[in-house]
Amino acid sequence: MHHWIDLRSDTVTRPSSAMRLAISKAVVGDDVYGEDPTVNRLEAMTAELCGMEAAIFCASGTQSNLLALLSHCQRGDEYIVGQQAHTYKYEGGGAAVLGSIQPQPLEFETDGSLSLEKIRAAIKEDDIHFAKTRLLALENTLGGKVVSQSYIKEASEFAHERGLAVHLDGARVCNAAVAQSVSVAELAAPFDSVSICLSKGLGAPVGSVLCGTRELITTARRWRKMLGGGMRQAGILAAAGIVALENNIPRLAEDHENARLLAQGLGKIDKIEVEYDTSSTNMVFLKLAVSELRPLVQYALEQGIRLTPHNPMRLVVHLDISRSDIETVIRVLSAYFRRR
Ligand SMILES: *Cc1c(COP(=O)(O)O)cnc(C)c1O
Repeated sequence: MHHWIDLRSDTVTRPSSAMRLAISKAVVGDDVYGEDPTVNRLEAMTAELCGMEAAIFCASGTQSNLLALLSHCQRGDEYIVGQQAHTYKYEGGGAAVLGSIQPQPLEFETDGSLSLEKIRAAIKEDDIHFAKTRLLALENTLGGKVVSQSYIKEASEFAHERGLAVHLDGARVCNAAVAQSVSVAELAAPFDSVSICLSKGLGAPVGSVLCGTRELITTARRWRKMLGGGMRQAGILAAAGIVALENNIPRLAEDHENARLLAQGLGKIDKIEVEYDTSSTNMVFLKLAVSELRPLVQYALEQGIRLTPHNPMRLVVHLDISRSDIETVIRVLSAYFRRR
């Protein structure tokens, strides 16, 4: 079979043979009855990883973020979120559509923080004219970059002092932990809830886990059922998630190293501007002339490399990308720009 070098996202990974084996051997039960031992084990493992009381296995990151928003907020409440945050921009407006929760988006600062001044100004007083501001939602990594933990602590404290809960969209929080050589629990500590994706850098085929207090997760379980996310013998899926958690966290360092090498190699090409700095993890961004976008994507495709025709172009490194794939990508893109 043709080997694609697919840099469009870290969601494109295929389950490893270890995962397929674990899936075939998984002991399962009806998870809506709480009787799937494999799901229960995955939830316990993830709660422990995040240093939280409880966890719930979800169909996707979108579902686990939505469960968090629905569980923290009531109809007519509001959550503060970044303008470019996944929960706000890339999840179909689910909180508003399904929860009657009003988003209050704020522009990110250049370092990926939400300014405390802007948060302060956005928190509404208790007044019958206003929605009730209930939650602050942050994201780490954000655009493939680690968000400073000192900022996160400060922002969470600030929100907590004002009676808000704080949620982390931690789709790639394991990348953030590995990049900083700290535990996921340490990064999760300032939050009331954290969602983690198993199907991104960790390489599982399906799933995300929401972690929080027992009470919050009990509420989330009711919402998950209502949203059609009660998945019965879901241990088939959870088994792959367990393999991901047991094997694929430390190895994220290889992805970060490969991304760094990719950025370094592409940096030698005059006609593109490469964005990769010390806070970057598994994503490299390229800026190039708009007229080059489609021809470059087409040329790369003919050489077996899949790219997204966006400017800046996001190149995502993951566990199905090897060191030699990185060398191939540098060679192919260099050749493309040499021909021009
Ligand atoms: C991918 C992603 C999600 C959603 O995950 P899906 O499984 O694609 O629904 C949420 N937040 C961030 C930051 C993501 O990158």
